[in-house]
Amino acid sequence: MSGIVIIGGGQAAASTSAKLRSLGYDGDLTIFAEEPVAPYQRPPLSKGYLLGEMPIDRLTLRSEEFWAANRIDLRLGVKVTDISPDDKSVGFAGGRVPYASLVLCTGAPPRRLPDAIGGALRGVFTVRTLADVDEMAASFKPGARLVVIGGGYIGLEAAAVARKLGLEVTLIEAALRILGRVAAPETADAIRDLHHAHGVNILEGVGISHLVGTDHVSGVALTDGREVAADFVIVGIGILPAVELAQMAGLTIENGIAVNEFGQTSDPNIWAAGDCASFNIDGDYRRIESVGNAVDMGELVATNLMGARVAYVPKPWFWSDQFDTKLQIAGLNIGYDETVRREGDGLSIWYFRSGTLVAVDALNDPRAYMVGKRLIESGKPVTADMIRTAEDLKALMK
Ligand code: NAP
Repeated sequence: MSGIVIIGGGQAAASTSAKLRSLGYDGDLTIFAEEPVAPYQRPPLSKGYLLGEMPIDRLTLRSEEFWAANRIDLRLGVKVTDISPDDKSVGFAGGRVPYASLVLCTGAPPRRLPDAIGGALRGVFTVRTLADVDEMAASFKPGARLVVIGGGYIGLEAAAVARKLGLEVTLIEAALRILGRVAAPETADAIRDLHHAHGVNILEGVGISHLVGTDHVSGVALTDGREVAADFVIVGIGILPAVELAQMAGLTIENGIAVNEFGQTSDPNIWAAGDCASFNIDGDYRRIESVGNAVDMGELVATNLMGARVAYVPKPWFWSDQFDTKLQIAGLNIGYDETVRREGDGLSIWYFRSGTLVAVDALNDPRAYMVGKRLIESGKPVTADMIRTAEDLKALMK
């Protein structure tokens, strides 16, 4: 009998499958994961795991016993090659499996630099999988010269770990400033200062011409003619949703695998969750690239697969650890037109759109994060002036 098949073995797949069993789903449940390891946490890869402080067994999301006891058939190291929506089956090198419902949790692999400019040279790494990080670990030797390409969270976290381990680090951001896609200038300024204080050399507003080297990378040539020597390179220039299977199956693609508010794709028997899935936010199909979203969407899809019709209300939150700073983010700052910078326990940046609080970045300021998250989620009206002048933020929640 055909049951539920999940493609992808990351956080969204783990969340969907666990929730299905906890809601009493009793049928066949299969996860096809291209990676040869059981679902694990990715966030520590660019933090504690890379630093060598978090052992591999703490990355694992669930024990072996959990998968067995819950009759979740983990097909590890198996790449699904096609979906046939007509006969409701998926194909892989070893055969085909039928499904009653299919959930796409295919994630979003990193963008790479083109081979033509040296992207395939040895010593050029991306950070997404356990294998990626294991592969680069041997390069993290004190005194080694690392060039990080891209000033997003991946690049900045990798740069922080490398400095802590005593490497010489240069980070190159093609845009005018780091964190341009995700944070306001005030947050970027604080993070830049932090990295400067720890000796990271940050170059902004300059692009990559090509990577230098014949077999192994030895440097990075910039568009302004400079060249930065490198023993190895980490590329953190964003991710691309894995939509190929969905596209081949004729599903609607809009900046990701488009789903409705229930998590269903344009084929009602096929659902999607996590980094690969896009949904309507303020009139545009957007993806929320975060663990919290993968967990919540996975649980939503499981709930709706069990017959509910619950609409997705994202409650976005993110965090980043760099040196001794914990950055916590609540909400989405899309379309913000005003910010308030507040110094409290730490530093916080509050984002407003047309007078409504939409997001907060809190640097070493858990109180600001907690208050901001609650205010955003409750929709309680609060003005920029109230944030600016509040003596005690907690009073705003009353
Ligand atoms: P990202 O947030 O998209 O940042 C990539 C950065 O690289 C952008 O600032 C981008 O600038 C820049 N860039 C693009 N092409 C470049 C080039 N050729 N040369 C130099 N800079 C270039 O993505 P990411 O940092 O790679 O992270 C990947 C995903 O993992 C994201 O979803 C991220 O949120 C997630 N992640 C999250 C955390 C966290 O929450 N703590 C930590 C790690 C990763 P433009 O915007 O101008 O293209």
